[in-house]
Amino acid sequence: MTASLLQLRVAAPDPALQPLREEVRGFLHDEIAAGSFVPVADCWVRGSSPAFSRKLGARGWLGMTWPKAFGGHGRTNQERYVVIEELLAAGAPVAAHWVAERQIGLSILRRGTDAQRHAYMPAIARGESYFGACYSEPDVGSDLASVRTRATRVGSSWRITGRKVWTSQAHIADHFFVLARTSTEGRKHDGLTMFIVPATTPGIDIRPLVSLNGEHHFNEVTFDEAAVPDTAVLSGEGKGWQLITAELAIERSGPERILSTLPVLREMVARARLDAGHRDAPVVVGELVARLRTLRAMSLAVAAEIEAGGDPAVQAALVKDLGTRFEGDVVAAARSLWPVAPRQGAADRYDDLVAQAVMHAPTFTLRGGTNEVLRGIVARALGLR
Ligand SMILES: Cc1cc2nc3c(=O)[nH]c(=O)nc-3n(C[C@H](O)[C@H](O)[C@H](O)COP(=O)(O)OP(=O)(O)OC[C@H]3O[C@@H](n4cnc5c(N)ncnc54)[C@H](O)[C@@H]3O)c2cc1C
Repeated sequence: MTASLLQLRVAAPDPALQPLREEVRGFLHDEIAAGSFVPVADCWVRGSSPAFSRKLGARGWLGMTWPKAFGGHGRTNQERYVVIEELLAAGAPVAAHWVAERQIGLSILRRGTDAQRHAYMPAIARGESYFGACYSEPDVGSDLASVRTRATRVGSSWRITGRKVWTSQAHIADHFFVLARTSTEGRKHDGLTMFIVPATTPGIDIRPLVSLNGEHHFNEVTFDEAAVPDTAVLSGEGKGWQLITAELAIERSGPERILSTLPVLREMVARARLDAGHRDAPVVVGELVARLRTLRAMSLAVAAEIEAGGDPAVQAALVKDLGTRFEGDVVAAARSLWPVAPRQGAADRYDDLVAQAVMHAPTFTLRGGTNEVLRGIVARALGLR
């Protein structure tokens, strides 16, 4: 395990993918020129545009790797990686569909029934259906197996009661993935079940959790005897823990864990070119670009491993730890090279982007599992704990 953990098969980007990359770049260039969106930092959390999501769906750039039978496009993970990378680099508004397309669709494909696949996947691939991931609860984040939201069987249906927090995009979601406790017997991990719950189900209340900068991405979602049929169970009763750990491995492995602040770094490169007299800028920016290159190679290696049918959950945890720290370091370097008072909405492009990134940087190492928890995963795989 130790050897394979430390060996990531690094491969150069496949040149055969360049035409697809150019196609996506051309599309994004035209969209920006047409005023369809203004690039933002941390776009996969902050930039929500259902209209833009539908445009991506119409181009076949959502659900790319899923089978055509379920609305997908039968393309490779490497092709999807190219599309995702370009969207993130451009700071495009992808948050509306992000959770549904990145992890929910795949979970349904891998663990759902055919009826569930047909019911949910095509609409996600069209960019028309958005999901909220209702996992975290007050006092239950890192220790997710301690979830207290209860689902009780009543005849052939279930009643869900509990409170979830930090549910990204719940206010625009049409469905939720809800992790709930269905048994208190045995190991706490074994009593968890995942449900697919329509947002319109009576008994669900969605309240905004507004960030300090006034933005609204998070929500508190409460369930008060919300009733769903037996067919809402994904993967079987008591299978929630296996499902969520597999899903989190996917969630942690993408290029969004290194590219959230790329729009800022691009501006820094441009500034360093213009500000030729700045002594430190070439060195600091150069180091960041070199780190990015290394991280990208590692991230591509994880993607290739997934493509090959492997399970690089530990490598993904490692790359996420390094990648999210890099994202934060970009923001710190931007502030120290050309100090700006964070003013979101500032007329100057650099000031505005840095302000956006400053406000979001504290979240980079938390979301999707904190870095301390990820290091615990790596340490366990190395036999150190
Ligand atoms: C931008 C963003 C989006 C999010 N979106 C969603 C969402 O859509 N759905 C959802 O369900 N959740 C979401 N979350 C919540 C996220 O998953 C949790 O914040 C995260 O899992 C940490 O949980 P916590 O906040 O309860 O922190 P805690 O678990 O209370 O951790 C507090 C501190 O203790 C440390 N710690 C905890 N346990 C250990 C340990 N065993 N070893 C070492 N250190 C430890 C942590 O690293 C951290 O520094 C989101 C969070 C953010 C920031």
